[in-house]
Amino acid sequence: LFSSQSPSITNFLDYLYEKYLPLDEGNIYVSEPDIVEIDPNWFSICIVTTDGQFYGVGDVEQSFLIQSISKVFAYGLALEDHGRDYVLKTVDVEPTGDAYNSIIKVEENSKRPYNAMVNTGAIAITNLIKGKSPAHKLNRILKMYQQYIGHPVYVDTGAVVSEQTKGDRNWAISYLLRNFGMISGDIKETLQLYLQQCSVIIDCRDLAIMAATLANNGRNPMTGKQAIDPDYIKDLLSVMFTCGMYDFAGEWAYKVGFPAKSGVGGGILAVVPGVMGIGVFSPPLDKRGNSIRGIKVCEELSHHFRLHIFEPM
Ligand code: GLN
Repeated sequence: LFSSQSPSITNFLDYLYEKYLPLDEGNIYVSEPDIVEIDPNWFSICIVTTDGQFYGVGDVEQSFLIQSISKVFAYGLALEDHGRDYVLKTVDVEPTGDAYNSIIKVEENSKRPYNAMVNTGAIAITNLIKGKSPAHKLNRILKMYQQYIGHPVYVDTGAVVSEQTKGDRNWAISYLLRNFGMISGDIKETLQLYLQQCSVIIDCRDLAIMAATLANNGRNPMTGKQAIDPDYIKDLLSVMFTCGMYDFAGEWAYKVGFPAKSGVGGGILAVVPGVMGIGVFSPPLDKRGNSIRGIKVCEELSHHFRLHIFEPM
């Protein structure tokens, strides 16, 4: 079905778009109140297969912030920078069952944060990124995104400043992490880099290409470029599978059954290993910070095409 341009896929995406566009629920996360307008009806679904076919419906080119989806890619860069053993000593691979920005398990388990898909672990991962200066580290992150996407990307600096100013929880997490020796160095620098990595502007097509690159053992199916050492793909996908949807990860694994990562910008990146990457973008979020339309679309795609990884062929 996914091996040649298929009208049944296009039709199904159109059907999902029409069906879920009227779903009028959820709250929008606004990083820059009074400056950026976010339309609750922006909605797009994109698929990129591992052999490079693109399917898309809706606001495919509407830009939004990558937010927490960045955690997957920063994790990959930290693994390349330091290797598996060192990274595992710094950040564990256990789901928290807590909200993405919860601080409680850092205090409970003062050895290392639970996983790289929630803020505590992600800030510790960003602290590992190598570079001679903050600018050099940011450049390495931007280059890394470029390999996955196929074109350069930029940081929304307004969003960074705004999240720095109002992000007391992330400051608190960072200080607590340093208190326990889980991160080192300048808190301001680490938090700034983390917020920059989160404030990169992408669109739904980019999201699906990044997902397809992960589905294709780290090789971008559009450019043919290797974005990450294939050896680390299983690290990224297994942590996405168990922790990528925060305190919804269990239900997601049960119902949808393939690895995914969400962000409060409204994106969900999902990976069907060896087959395709899926990007869904719709800003209204449920109380956990996951896109409401995004969850519905992935549930239906999974059932319709039998994509659950434990579904017999
Ligand atoms: N920048 C946001 C934060 O750290 C990202 C959160 C998210 O997408 N869940 O709070």
